[in-house]
Amino acid sequence: MAKARKYVYFFGDGKADGRADMKELLGGKGANLAEMTNLGIPVPAGFTITTEVCTHYYKHGRRYPGELKGQVDKALARVEKVMGARFGDAENPLLLSCRSGARASMPGMMETVLNIGLTTRTIPGMVRLAKNPRFVWDAYRRLITMYTDVVMEKAAGIEPAEGKGIRHQLEHEMAKMKERVGAKNDTDLTAEHLKELTATYKKKVQEVLGKAFPDDPQEQLWGAIGAVFQSWNGKRAVSYRRIEAIPDAWGTATNVQAMVFGNMGNNSATGVAFTRNPATGENKFFGEWLPNAQGEDVVAGIRTPNPLNEDTRSEHSAGLQSLQNAMPKVYTQLVRIRNRLEKHYRDMQDIEFTIQDGRLWMLQTRNGKRNGPAAVRMAVEMLRERLISKEMAVTRVTPAQLDELLHPILDPQAERKAAVLAKGLPAGPGGAAGRIVFTAADAVAWAERGEVVILCREETNPEDVEGMRAAKAILTARGGMTSHAALVARGWGKCCIVGAGALKVSAGAKTISADATVLREGDWISLNGTKGAVYAGKLPTVDPDPENPRLVEFLKACDRVRQLGVRANADTPEDARVARTFGAEGIGLVRTEHMFYGEGAEVPLFKLRKMILSSTEAERRAALGELFPHVKADLKGTLKAMAPYPVTIRLLDPPLHEFVPRDEGVQRELARSLGIDVAEIRKRGEDLHETNPMMGHRGVRLGITYPEVTEMQVRAILEATAELHKEGVKAHPEIMIPVTCSVAEIRDQAGIIARVKTEVMSKLGLKKLDFLVGTMIEIPRAALTAGEMAEAAEFFSFGTNDLTQMGFGFSRDDIGAFMPDYLKKEILPADPFQTIDQAGIGELIRIGIERGRATRPKLKVGICGEHGGDPASIHFCHKVGMDYVSCSPFRVPIARLAAAQVAVKDLAAKKTAAKPKKKKKK
Ligand code: ADP
Ligand code: MG
Ligand code: MG
Repeated sequence: MAKARKYVYFFGDGKADGRADMKELLGGKGANLAEMTNLGIPVPAGFTITTEVCTHYYKHGRRYPGELKGQVDKALARVEKVMGARFGDAENPLLLSCRSGARASMPGMMETVLNIGLTTRTIPGMVRLAKNPRFVWDAYRRLITMYTDVVMEKAAGIEPAEGKGIRHQLEHEMAKMKERVGAKNDTDLTAEHLKELTATYKKKVQEVLGKAFPDDPQEQLWGAIGAVFQSWNGKRAVSYRRIEAIPDAWGTATNVQAMVFGNMGNNSATGVAFTRNPATGENKFFGEWLPNAQGEDVVAGIRTPNPLNEDTRSEHSAGLQSLQNAMPKVYTQLVRIRNRLEKHYRDMQDIEFTIQDGRLWMLQTRNGKRNGPAAVRMAVEMLRERLISKEMAVTRVTPAQLDELLHPILDPQAERKAAVLAKGLPAGPGGAAGRIVFTAADAVAWAERGEVVILCREETNPEDVEGMRAAKAILTARGGMTSHAALVARGWGKCCIVGAGALKVSAGAKTISADATVLREGDWISLNGTKGAVYAGKLPTVDPDPENPRLVEFLKACDRVRQLGVRANADTPEDARVARTFGAEGIGLVRTEHMFYGEGAEVPLFKLRKMILSSTEAERRAALGELFPHVKADLKGTLKAMAPYPVTIRLLDPPLHEFVPRDEGVQRELARSLGIDVAEIRKRGEDLHETNPMMGHRGVRLGITYPEVTEMQVRAILEATAELHKEGVKAHPEIMIPVTCSVAEIRDQAGIIARVKTEVMSKLGLKKLDFLVGTMIEIPRAALTAGEMAEAAEFFSFGTNDLTQMGFGFSRDDIGAFMPDYLKKEILPADPFQTIDQAGIGELIRIGIERGRATRPKLKVGICGEHGGDPASIHFCHKVGMDYVSCSPFRVPIARLAAAQVAVKDLAAKKTAAKPKKKKKK
């Protein structure tokens, strides 16, 4: 007989059915509760209902598998035994929490119900047991609030009008009572007050929802379990999944767990901590706690939390007692658990704990979210501590996180002069300036209009995620470092300040004020998220520091792991220097024509135009002669700046008519210089006009029709190189012929190059002059005939911008008209100009490399399109065996990381493949 499927996994009393690596089945929370239990860490007993039940539930019209009820009953009986109390029992009642937990952490996006099992029958028993009626009535109040909100309203699909939700209405009743009895804090309400309040609540629930709050523990439990599964498809969860690309099919698990109470009095507490500081990465135990409080009070930012220890006390928590001082024994135990968890998981953990009457319980652990600077610091320090290997270290930072270190900060000089409007907690680093908006919806709408906005709120809640995403930065007046806003911003690496208490945020009036300053919607505000400083107005931002020592150390680890080389596309000596500070090992593309654009280009451009508008070879040679010293000096500077690394220099590429002068003054001057009249100049210019210049007289075609143009450039490159060698500079040029489609083109140009080489060598009396001659592969025919191309080319560089353009037949300059629809209708999965289309263009590349290397096994292969800086494309380049990628100087660190990560992935895949496969059972 087939064994019944296991839907329920027990944990408690040092033993658990599950493990940390069972996240797919148990969700992250459930898997880690099991793991902690197995490690002997104190965890209240409970059980996890698997994600398969969730999937089943949605597949079968919201019904559970038949076996579930029996398995839950059995597990619950075990929990009762371990905890020494019984669910629903009048004398010795057990209370439960029911907690959602998906594979990937979705903080605050789904539901949790606490204190399940409190009924008119169990309350008196609870009061006797706890010897604390206030605590019991407070727990009951919380149960009614959470349960009616989560189970009776949200899960029932009721969508109340703004401000009419049941939670809101109940909270309003509580506020009314506080006012009536003169209570300042929730904790000022007495047992009698709370008892009365729960009676009011129940009446209100009946009145608003037309149903009574259930007084049966089993009904409460199954109501909560159902609501957790329902919350998987709640609005917040769905939009969070969209943003984070979490598949809808995963489903959530549900954890049912014995309650422990942080609100039993002043010897009880609850807290959230990180084993290292998630905002800076500093190796210091960092957290927040609240005495006499339950669960979500810390995260919700209801009260300003106390600091965990003396080490991490900030000016905000100056007057508040640390756990270290208040409960030194418990704190020491917590530190031991912290050390244990870090060693075990080998990563920074985000933990939840509760202290019930002096006894410590762990309620959650997971790999903590962190921002970019913290991720880099932790990776580097854990590597130094030998907690992780270099391969692990490089997987600890995502390209987006690394990008944060390469991102702008507020200009320190401007910041020094600006007056701080308010200070808050530095929850997300970097600097940002933007216009103030007050609601998530406005943030989305304004951002869509192209405005840069900063979302300013009293505090954020999970409903705000889309607005938070759309905003450049986030600012809240309340909440701590573990508040929702901080958590979410950290995950996204967004500039964020929370708990700027001096700010009065009035969402209704749409103003922010601090002292005498009042800012309105649309006004500019600037944040320094690294320090937590808020400024009125728009401060300038500046670019990051590539020489940050931790960044350098991290990237060195990447370099030790990666196999792909990383070069930069750089056109000037200045670009080359920047590229080197970012770690480029050469230039993959110098566009020679850059010297005819922009500042300082007038003189060479004039000479180029003269050359273009020449009508005889003699005229052209004369003009080229004038141009020669400019080209040579320019390339010499770049070769020198990059030495001893190689520099790939592309011969003149653009269609000539791009340079034809339209300005009459220039036309007249050129006419004078060439000794012809202006009409003739215009005529020659018009003759260069092309219907489709992208596919016209350009690239190698220029060199074929005007060999003297190639000759001049090659002479400039080789003389510059020879001179550098004489100066002791190891310059390594690689001459690249663009837009080729036939090996005969390369042979033709290679002939010119060989001739010039002999001339230069004899002129300068050299015995040796080494350089490579290769081609850009950017026409499909070139890729397909790569076997022949490689006979004459010593290297290939895939020009994937043009290859994509010609492979798809999409004009890159005109995709704006249709690409958005292609993406929306999912005709293409991504813009192929941003990330390589592996199925088509990638296939051309693969074929090109394969055929090229069949002819010339040592053929050097790289890429020099925009794709060279795109992580997914870099992974592809590694897989097809390229030697290097080349990208913009600022993307070089990202490329180094992406190259390392794909190498690690490859290694892991090879290891698994090497293991003998288990035979499948028939
Ligand atoms: P989230 O995933 O949103 O953090 P949780 O399931 O972790 O939701 O629960 C919300 C809060 O309730 C947390 O602070 C958690 O520590 C607390 N909590 C959950 N279960 C229990 C329990 N059995 N005893 C005490 N507190 C609990
Ligand atoms: Mg939690
Ligand atoms: Mg091109």
